[in-house]
Amino acid sequence: MKIDLHVHLVGNGSSGNGAWLRPRGIHIYLYQYMLHQLGLPAGSLKGDLDEIFLQKLLLDVRESSMDAAVILAMDDIYDEQGNVHENQGVFHIPNEHVLKLAKLHPELIPAVSIHPHRRDALEELEKCIEGGAALLKLLPNVHNVNCSDRKLTKFWSHLSEAGIPFLPHTGSEHTLPVMNKAWEDPRSLELPLECGVTVIAAHSAAKNAPWDEDGLTTLFRMMEKYPNLYGDTSAFNLPWRSSAYRRILKSEFRERFVHGSDYPVPIQAIWPRVWGLIDGEQHREIAKTGNSLERDYQIKKAIGFEEGHFTRAGTLLRRK
Ligand SMILES: [Zn+2]
Repeated sequence: MKIDLHVHLVGNGSSGNGAWLRPRGIHIYLYQYMLHQLGLPAGSLKGDLDEIFLQKLLLDVRESSMDAAVILAMDDIYDEQGNVHENQGVFHIPNEHVLKLAKLHPELIPAVSIHPHRRDALEELEKCIEGGAALLKLLPNVHNVNCSDRKLTKFWSHLSEAGIPFLPHTGSEHTLPVMNKAWEDPRSLELPLECGVTVIAAHSAAKNAPWDEDGLTTLFRMMEKYPNLYGDTSAFNLPWRSSAYRRILKSEFRERFVHGSDYPVPIQAIWPRVWGLIDGEQHREIAKTGNSLERDYQIKKAIGFEEGHFTRAGTLLRRK
């Protein structure tokens, strides 16, 4: 099965599913642009976004080479005492909603999101295991989680026993406000790795801007030590991250990388073209592809990723 491991669900709660979306300042324009480049009508942000987005995603999955897409829930931000930061989050997608959608649509695989500082984190995890969760998603720098805080040992051990892999955001972040930049460093993932959790570092900690730290080198070094560490190639078709493709393909760890798009983040074939990874003819062909999920797949195939890159997620995700 070809699986896109990293697909965001976006919604404003218009269908009563409990989701919300509250972009502020420049993020309003950024989100409008992201929806526009998917081909969604103007005004979707304030319209029936839940249904418009879901139908577009289902259509894109069905019309692409992907057999399934992992849809990501998004938890709120909590402090260490377990109190929710009411006004910090930009969007929220409830776990129950992704679990429910995955039951209705066989091409969707549910990834839940549980802030480990929640007072009910272990109970929520239990509920999600029961509900069929295949993956756990967090953005440690946005959610403000030091994953190697010893207080979280029990949470990670439980996740490991349940066989649920963890997809933490790594590297810098530009689409959401960052609470603590320190937690974008893959070295902060040592505790879950030591607890036996399969960790898939989202974006492989690759540089997102020239001034970013080189997290990919750190990730390669950590892969030597931890056989349960992987990276995904999501949001790689952006100006700077594209430069990391070649290093991954040449690496002895290339089989530890997994396909993901980061839909609805824009997927632009021009960047791999600029970095000389595809030629002009390939660029023209791929740029014609209107389906974002398919475009991401076509780019990676043209660059030289083999079949295993697209099917590897199936060997890592928890399947009931
Ligand atoms: Zn993402």
